[in-house]
Amino acid sequence: MPFTIDDLKVSPGSKLDLSERDPSATPSFDGDKKAGQARLEELNSRLEELQDLLWAEQKHRVLFVIQAMDAGGKDGTIRHVFDGVNPSGVKVASFKKPSSKELARDYLWRAHAQVPANGELTIFNRSHYEDVLAVRVLELVPEKQWKRRYKHIVDFEQMLVDEGTTIIKIFLHISKDEQKERLQARLDEPDKNWKFEIGDLESRSHWDAYQEAFEDAISKTSTDDSPWYVIPANRKWYRNIAISEILIQTLESLDMKFPEAADGLDQVVID
Ligand code: ATP
Ligand code: MG
Repeated sequence: MPFTIDDLKVSPGSKLDLSERDPSATPSFDGDKKAGQARLEELNSRLEELQDLLWAEQKHRVLFVIQAMDAGGKDGTIRHVFDGVNPSGVKVASFKKPSSKELARDYLWRAHAQVPANGELTIFNRSHYEDVLAVRVLELVPEKQWKRRYKHIVDFEQMLVDEGTTIIKIFLHISKDEQKERLQARLDEPDKNWKFEIGDLESRSHWDAYQEAFEDAISKTSTDDSPWYVIPANRKWYRNIAISEILIQTLESLDMKFPEAADGLDQVVID
């Protein structure tokens, strides 16, 4: 059965209601965890081939945005989905709390500086969306100011698309209980202690406000050219295959080709 990525897409113009999307669901995949892990290995190989082609062709630029609540699985997604991909053509840009240099400029400045060049696939681990998520929930700027940003973001992304960038945006949808388990594991398991941040508890206390901010941001900025996908992410193995499928199907739609051999290459003799 083909994997229908459209089932995970947020249709442009529709209003996303996260409470209607089950974070433990596994749409388009009938198998269990073991089958999912085996499938991921196949998908990893295919993604590796496509990224090789992307790099060889030097024509397209791919921007892959990941957003999630704390402990939503951003790092694990990057590790597992891009396992085996040639690191030369893939970059990860992580967006933390803005520095004073960044705060002294418009909020899109730091994002624009990191967008992919020809042949590159750039992963935004958090992104300019924080400026309508954390900034909104924590009331870092007045409402009037963040409300205008949805339009800026749509226009900014459309400009990137018009100039040759392919954009894929992923929201890792986990339940509040799942977040609790993952944060608890960071307290209980010595190897995970380093990941625990007391600030994550503050974000958790704003869970509902964040869900609402995500619903608004995603609904207002999912477009045909720059779509959002909501990934049921309680089951990490499903999350990994769903995201791999989205990347693979999107890259396949670019109809990439290896560059033609240079003239006379068939005459070259190596002795
Ligand atoms: P990790 O998995 O390592 O915890 P992380 O992405 O959560 O990764 P942190 O340094 O823990 O990284 O968190 C980054 C913090 O910066 C988040 O709380 C996020 O909301 C915040 N942040 C990012 N961009 C902005 C922004 N533009 N304005 C305000 N806060 C921001
Ligand atoms: Mg964190």
